[in-house]
Amino acid sequence: MKNLLPYCALLFVLSCSPTKLRFERPVNTTSRPISIQDKKQFAYPESDVVFSNDFDGARLNGVIQENDSTYRLRITPENIPINNSAYYAFKIKSTKAQNLYLQFDYPPPYTHRYVPKINRGNGWTVAAGEFINTIDGRTQLKLTKVSGTVLVSAQELQNSGHVAQWAEAQQAKNSMIDFKSIGESTLGRPIWVMDIQQGNAKGKPVIVFFTRQHPPEVTGYLAFKAFMEELLSKTDLSDDFFDQYHILAFPLVNPDGVDLGHWRHNAGGVDTNRDWSKYRQPETRAIVKYIEKTLRKEKANLVLGLDFHSTWYDVFYTNKERQSTPFPNFLDQWFSALEARIPNYKVNEKASNSTQPVSKGWLLYGHNAVGVTYEIGDETPRDSIQLIGQTSAKALMEILVEEKQ
Ligand SMILES: [Zn+2]
Repeated sequence: MKNLLPYCALLFVLSCSPTKLRFERPVNTTSRPISIQDKKQFAYPESDVVFSNDFDGARLNGVIQENDSTYRLRITPENIPINNSAYYAFKIKSTKAQNLYLQFDYPPPYTHRYVPKINRGNGWTVAAGEFINTIDGRTQLKLTKVSGTVLVSAQELQNSGHVAQWAEAQQAKNSMIDFKSIGESTLGRPIWVMDIQQGNAKGKPVIVFFTRQHPPEVTGYLAFKAFMEELLSKTDLSDDFFDQYHILAFPLVNPDGVDLGHWRHNAGGVDTNRDWSKYRQPETRAIVKYIEKTLRKEKANLVLGLDFHSTWYDVFYTNKERQSTPFPNFLDQWFSALEARIPNYKVNEKASNSTQPVSKGWLLYGHNAVGVTYEIGDETPRDSIQLIGQTSAKALMEILVEEKQ
């Protein structure tokens, strides 16, 4: 009996480590340094203007006053190299109504990407064309009649507090949802899951949803929210769907990156969507461990996963290989349904088998599951995002409920 102990301990360790995968083009996802932005107020009392980055999800690294009404705003990434997702978010306060000119200043080669979203305390608006121009190669935003507090952000601010509030509201309406922390990020923020099941989970196929691996990709998160709300709509279809499938939704994969106002990476300075083979980062490790533990406990298979992101335009990145998955025809049926139901909508699909360790590849190579990177355009109108999110959820439930019968 004594001699068996080390063997059991080894078995225990093995069974708890997530299964590592090999990809054609591996990526080194060992943590690298990031520069932390100073949280502060940039005050210009003579002009009655204060800028601040003192909130979760803010990004403003420096301010230079050019004249009474013009300010140059320095926005820098957490580390380099990094792709051009020049995210910013800050507050401006003034007690008198005044016009301000804000120039966005990024280190080369980075350029302005996101059309400013503005919140004067009564919801978000998109800065209109007449208020944006270019001065000395820098994008300039004209803000008229600034009084009180105005929030200016690359995308609608959605930090960890907003995500928790939304998930808790869903849980309060729906007893199927177990919203909980399954681990911690580098800086100690919770990694959340919404574990959603009804009845007996034994042997039930598992479906996973991820979002916010990349902090500025708020439009993907907005689609995720609309998608989840449709799944949780308590219709007969939704009831049938949850009778047959067990859902694990991860509403904020990269909480440090989101709250630090990062352009792309986590607090380890790493793109978590290149870490789906070795799980060197705490976020991917906690998530994969939780999924694998659930599959073992319920003797279930992972059959499908969607990872919600944003890019320049709407696109679904899919795997070419489908025959080995449980639903070889799912994507064709799903995309046809979207085109049939959304007016003037053409699905933009790009199919290729992942060569780098991204979630879509992990779903296919690790689990033979259908994997999709569900990308929404940065500036896709918000009502369209709502419609695409809802319609894609409804069609997914219809196709998958049908498949099982
Ligand atoms: Zn992304």
